[in-house]
Amino acid sequence: MDELSDLYAEVIMDHQRHPRNFGKLENFDREIQMTNSSCGDQISLQIKFENEKIKDLKFTGMGCAISMASASVMTEVMKGLSVKEAKHFCDEFLEMIREGKVPADDLKDAKVFSNIHKYPMRIKCATLAWHALQKAIE
Ligand code: ZN
Repeated sequence: MDELSDLYAEVIMDHQRHPRNFGKLENFDREIQMTNSSCGDQISLQIKFENEKIKDLKFTGMGCAISMASASVMTEVMKGLSVKEAKHFCDEFLEMIREGKVPADDLKDAKVFSNIHKYPMRIKCATLAWHALQKAIE
């Protein structure tokens, strides 16, 4: 295992055991539900906007470790960003998954998912939450 694989396993396990921003918002502006039928992953994402920013977001759902960890990481990256920044990071993440290239540091823990492009069957698991966000802010 190379360094990134170790980090990958560690970060994914951590987010799966202790998902960030898991639950429901009392007040929200948008709710998006998405499923990944190839694996059975489900996510429901709620977002509260304020002044063109993602003021708060939470998710609930069930699915494989990768889908849940990726949702947790996504909420951590996106919280507090402007909608414009969020779109940019979403594009970067999806491009990273497709190309396997690790972009700049600003994707935080999301970087560890760069390995996923080697496992085409898992790509939909890793991108589910990000597609839900993309839909919520389009
Ligand atoms: Zn999955």
